[in-house]
Amino acid sequence: MEIIIAKHAGFCFGVRRAVDMAEKALEGGRRVYCLGSLIHNQQVIEKLEQRGLVTVKDPAEVPVGSLFLVRSHGIDPNIVKDIIAQNGEILDATCPFVRRAQMVAEKFHNDGFDVVICGDPEHAEVIGINAWASNSAKIIHDANEVSSMKFKGTVGILSQTTQKVELLQDIVAELLKKTKHLVIENTICLDSSTKQAEVSALAKEVDIVLVIGGRNSSNTGKLVQLSEAQKTPTKHIETASELQLEWFAGVKKVGIAAGASTAQFLIDEVVDKVESLC
Ligand code: SF4
Repeated sequence: MEIIIAKHAGFCFGVRRAVDMAEKALEGGRRVYCLGSLIHNQQVIEKLEQRGLVTVKDPAEVPVGSLFLVRSHGIDPNIVKDIIAQNGEILDATCPFVRRAQMVAEKFHNDGFDVVICGDPEHAEVIGINAWASNSAKIIHDANEVSSMKFKGTVGILSQTTQKVELLQDIVAELLKKTKHLVIENTICLDSSTKQAEVSALAKEVDIVLVIGGRNSSNTGKLVQLSEAQKTPTKHIETASELQLEWFAGVKKVGIAAGASTAQFLIDEVVDKVESLC
């Protein structure tokens, strides 16, 4: 049986940078606080937490004067200001591509545009980006929502970095029916679009696709959707322990893709287990 691994499977630049920053900060022996998951991969977070990373759900849980690491998805700038006001030390692991989206949202808002974010309103990155636009943005996750919305003046649209470009295109097409003044900033990151194109191509040439990544990972979820769209049997797993022998009955080629937060050791473990099973 042949195993084909997507060329860009696993850690993207932004996640690699955030994990490196966390590991370096933890070398000093201090506890490092992070609001929400630094990255969307539980196995990697558990390893960092064993070394002293503390993931909190509320800024009030961050002790005064702490070392605080801003997650790769970015956060509300007012939270950072509050932590600095409490003598906190900030390490900013916001991915530079997310930072760009934050800056676009802030500029659109400061220019008086009606700000639209193409993305999941529940996703931490989108919540953070909206905060940079003073929480004024309309967040759209389905192009059909546009028809019932009202817009005024110039509309500025940007995207969650891991969204599918097709969704951005669909929303833009609907917005054009509503306004003649539309400014578009495509803030989808290159890593996301590369991984998405790869998984679509991979799904066409294999009998089953294994997509490795956190179940809370937006970009991993997109890879699963795109593989399934090719009508190829697709399994979303977090670790090798979830693999089942019956998935591989009659399978000649296995494709492996992995989300941007998936560490190499998790990919290696899946490859080893597939080889041993088959
Ligand atoms: S997927 Fe893109 S935007 Fe998100 S952390 Fe990775 S490089 Fe940054």
